Amino acid sequence: MSPAGRPRTRAAVFDLVRAARRISRVDLAARSGLTPATITEVVRELLELELVVEAGRGASTGGKPPMLIELNPEARYAVGVLYERNLCTVTVVDLTGRAMATSSSPGTSLMPPEQALPVVAERIGRLLDEAGIERGRVLGAGLATYGPQDRRAGVVLTHQPTADWFGHPVAGRLSELLGLPVLLDNDAVAAAIGEHWLGGVGSGTFGCLYMASGIGGGVVVDGEVYRGASSNGVEVGHITVDVDGGPCDCGNHGCLGNYADPRAVIGQAMRVPGLDRRLGLDPADSDVITSFVRIAAAASGGDPEARTLIERSARLLGTAAVTLTTLFDLECIVLAGPAFGAATWIYQSVIQDELQRRAFVRRVHPVRVVPSVNGSDAAAIGAAALVLQSELASLQLQELYRAR
Ligand SMILES: [Zn+2]
Repeated sequence: MSPAGRPRTRAAVFDLVRAARRISRVDLAARSGLTPATITEVVRELLELELVVEAGRGASTGGKPPMLIELNPEARYAVGVLYERNLCTVTVVDLTGRAMATSSSPGTSLMPPEQALPVVAERIGRLLDEAGIERGRVLGAGLATYGPQDRRAGVVLTHQPTADWFGHPVAGRLSELLGLPVLLDNDAVAAAIGEHWLGGVGSGTFGCLYMASGIGGGVVVDGEVYRGASSNGVEVGHITVDVDGGPCDCGNHGCLGNYADPRAVIGQAMRVPGLDRRLGLDPADSDVITSFVRIAAAASGGDPEARTLIERSARLLGTAAVTLTTLFDLECIVLAGPAFGAATWIYQSVIQDELQRRAFVRRVHPVRVVPSVNGSDAAAIGAAALVLQSELASLQLQELYRAR
């Protein structure tokens, strides 16, 4: 069969090398179920394309020690973007998913998409230039933002930050501006993919609680991100925590986000006499993440009133963690996103406590709570990993040859 006739085989082998970091041909055959002859052939192709390199010899199992294979990090790159109203983080990762360069700047606020997307494209171009990365080696860009969205069409279906964004073909437009493929995805899902790609949790079945200006979630089951029917699921910020609660923008009532997300906590802080002045909170400030991070830092530093607010928010996120674990039997909950900030440890401890007391599965196995390996850039790094995963999944070698 011609090399182009076996993209799935190559993709499977490539993914095994990625997951193992370093692996011999013998182990590749054992783990993939492919014959040693097929593995030798596929590895030869991947070596010719410089997607993998030989990385010294492993331990001997009796005979000559086997040669190990690992990914060639410089073979290809991918761009990831977290787009928020008040925050735009751009990152470029190598083939292993490691961030080579990252820049965070204020968001484009209330700009309509026709103005905002060229600004994002310009920031991506600048980052690639500064990092000295050839455009020909960049596979594409991932754009992570809040939902709802039509991921396949590359269209956001939200009126945030302005009405012009609803139905705008953001992925197609950014792709035209960059001359690269662009994939749109939910920020929390992207963060979960990034966590899996970089092997942060060491578990194939985990949930991600993502907090930026709102709260989102992602679930990875057996190494595959859970997509549901349209990839608009696991929206934990919009599960009801108070059946008599007030209406939410999403159309539901009593949503978790309205009690626990940064915007809600800022509102609660404003109602504590003197706290707004003490923390320098301005009710007119639309930069939700920055204001929230200030409350989180005060809570972490021992301010009792800020601590009460953050602990309450954490308990509510603990409810979301318990719900997700009950639905999906998760081994781990990852906390990701720029809003946890200095209070990550408070959230981690409170959510862990809720899971230990309330998770249905608690007597069968522990459910750990850990901060994301990708820190506050988790969604941007995950969006880039999404591109690696998607573009390399098919491993269309002729395309890759052409790109050389
Ligand atoms: Zn809602």
